[in-house]
Amino acid sequence: MTYPARAVVDLDAISSNVTALADRAGPAAVMAVVKADAYGHGLVPSARAALAGGATWLGAAQVDEALALRAAGIGAPLLTWLYAPGAALDQALLAGIDVSVSAAWALDELLAAVRSTGRTARVHIKVDTGLGRNGVMPDELDALLGTALRAQAEGACAVVGIWSHFAWADAPDHPTVLAQAEVFAEAVALAERRGAQLEVRHLANSAATLTNPSVHYDLVRPGLAVFGLSPVPELGTSADYGLTPAMRLEAELALVKQVPAGHGVSYGHEHVTSGPTTLGLVPIGYADGIPRHASGTAERRGAPVQVSGRRLGIAGRVCMDQFVLDLGPGATEQAGQTVELFGTGADGGPTAQDWAEVVGTISYEVVTRVGTRLPRVHVGSAGVAG
Ligand SMILES: *Cc1c(COP(=O)(O)O)cnc(C)c1O
Repeated sequence: MTYPARAVVDLDAISSNVTALADRAGPAAVMAVVKADAYGHGLVPSARAALAGGATWLGAAQVDEALALRAAGIGAPLLTWLYAPGAALDQALLAGIDVSVSAAWALDELLAAVRSTGRTARVHIKVDTGLGRNGVMPDELDALLGTALRAQAEGACAVVGIWSHFAWADAPDHPTVLAQAEVFAEAVALAERRGAQLEVRHLANSAATLTNPSVHYDLVRPGLAVFGLSPVPELGTSADYGLTPAMRLEAELALVKQVPAGHGVSYGHEHVTSGPTTLGLVPIGYADGIPRHASGTAERRGAPVQVSGRRLGIAGRVCMDQFVLDLGPGATEQAGQTVELFGTGADGGPTAQDWAEVVGTISYEVVTRVGTRLPRVHVGSAGVAG
């Protein structure tokens, strides 16, 4: 491998994170959410590691992501929930993927796919209990259930799930959390009164899995926590919840050189050396998902990296392929030496959460945006044999 940077993903960390989540959620089962290339960690190896850790379901937003899991030979129960008219629901049925329905058109298309494939659909009806995003509005649930249960009576589908998603799960005391939980309970009760035999009622993402046992129901759907990051950094760190960040982002210095005082660094000279110093060139940039907002300017310290056990901020602007560190006068670093951008934090190095705070975003975005150009190197053995 010659690429001078990589995301090293610890599959054993993913597996042990899922085990910690399963312990917390029990008796509810765990659906590991592996959308967006498993939050940037690599879809198939991450999914296998999550299953090895005790997840019994997988969740993927896009139909194509779910199909990719099946194409890799993963047979676990699997739900997909985000698609537009014309999606390949026939392929989803042929692959044995459960499909979420949020609208009458979606149910119509799913039932058309049932007719064309001869397969029965397993349907999870998604209810908008207050997020204001996907899901059928509660006042339209009865009509949608009516159509679905008529199709069920004809053998076309089985309504196996009622589910929803929180707006404020990361603030467990926010009044919307209780309000959404109440709307959800009513939706479940309605479906059961109508005769649906629900296998799984599910509402909790990572934050609700960690902070709100009253909404675990039959199945929890953590994503971020599977990858070891805290969804509620104000309430608890990864370690507080028994989680280990699974991704380490690292690069090798591509150049180390001496420069004089007053030397402008990178585009726009946002950093100017205050004395004779050593610059180190890190060959990873915004094309690899390093936010340009991680730049270090006169006004703002750049995002943290660790090199030779010391922590430095990025100097000057992050470019497409590279950024620069001001290593200081007399620095002993050499080209080829590894720089850690973020990792577990156990070695005193920065975490994705540290990056999120500097950049003004959430750790979800830091790991998910790691570019497709960067190799993922999977270490550990969880799920590798399976
Ligand atoms: C992404 C997603 C999840 C997982 O959310 P986390 O906050 O990462 O745990 C769960 N359910 C739905 C519907 C999602 O879109």
